[in-house]
Amino acid sequence: MSRTSHILDNALGAVGNTPLIRLDKVAQLHGLKCNLLGKVEYMSAGGSVKDRIAKAMVEAAEREGKLIPGKSVVIEPTSGNTGIGLAMACAIKVCSRTSLNTLAKGYSVIITLPNKMSLEKEAALRALGAEVVRTPTEAAWDAPESHIGVAKKLQREIPYGIILDQYRNVNNPLAHELTTGPEIIEAVVSTPSTSSKPSSGKVDVLVAGAGTGGTVTGLSRAVKKTHNKDCIIVGVDPNGSILAYPDSLNASHEGEQYIVEGIGYDFIPDVLSRDPADIGSWVKTSDAEAFAAVKSLMRHEGLLVGGSSGSALSGALRWLEQEPEGRRISQTPGANVVVLLPDGIRNYMSKPWFLKIAMEAEPSPLAGVIAGVLAKK
Ligand code: PMP
Repeated sequence: MSRTSHILDNALGAVGNTPLIRLDKVAQLHGLKCNLLGKVEYMSAGGSVKDRIAKAMVEAAEREGKLIPGKSVVIEPTSGNTGIGLAMACAIKVCSRTSLNTLAKGYSVIITLPNKMSLEKEAALRALGAEVVRTPTEAAWDAPESHIGVAKKLQREIPYGIILDQYRNVNNPLAHELTTGPEIIEAVVSTPSTSSKPSSGKVDVLVAGAGTGGTVTGLSRAVKKTHNKDCIIVGVDPNGSILAYPDSLNASHEGEQYIVEGIGYDFIPDVLSRDPADIGSWVKTSDAEAFAAVKSLMRHEGLLVGGSSGSALSGALRWLEQEPEGRRISQTPGANVVVLLPDGIRNYMSKPWFLKIAMEAEPSPLAGVIAGVLAKK
């Protein structure tokens, strides 16, 4: 059902149901004959793919009686977007009316956020009513001062503190298996093949970055179980992270810092499947190529995406251009290659990498015209 066809109870009704959009100009610029399609997750209510898991984890915890209105304190270590989804869900719970004049008591939220994550994410979290605790980016995941370590410490000390734990919660990959994946399949299957826009009628390749790995793992399950068992799933992992498989892929940039937020880790989360039967191929990406791809999505497709969307697109392009199977598919008209674009530029407006894209535009022929007009007396 379209989310705009009826009145929604609250913003959680506008989570997900995001569009799948052709990236024709990027495809053309790279000489691709296949369809390149972007699943645009910044159009979800809280602005990212992680709204889906936040909603699913809160609803599951409520069903299981783990959340006590007016008492529970939801604590979560995140790179920001899961926190925004949780804070949004919990803000709605606080404001929903139980009877005419009584506001239901909801849940408080504390987010532990590594220092490298943007000010915009912290501001969004605070605006939604969450507390934010910053942690050192360089702390190892299992160090007490890391975002995970600090969340655990807070949970031990704060009465009714609960960590829904996106790194282990089955509802993380499940939310993608039940929503993101089926939406992609439905959009591809229901779009007819025409002579000008041929389609194989199936999802042939799916490309997604990995943070917790919930998105790529859940997508793989949805597509392989219900739609096309031969679909090739490509995982994208930034240089400096260790999520790619086999491990040898990670060796050359071990420990390197990277700017892109939301993908990559220094440990393997439980929800990430590294089974090659699920994620058949991995690509490593650099900040520079990610930001070049963001610029391309903005200038050529009008899509205001965030940094990890650039990583996913640059990973997809590299796989299509360099892997033998990728080269074959890239030249097959009608083959559908879907790239998951996790969040939007709202989260990064003040970041130097974005300001460089925005403010250091190529000289436009219009600049001279404008100067001429303004100079006229
Ligand atoms: N991109 C961004 C911007 C994110 O916030 C996340 C979540 N950490 C991801 C990609 C990766 O998603 P997942 O955790 O499902 O692997």
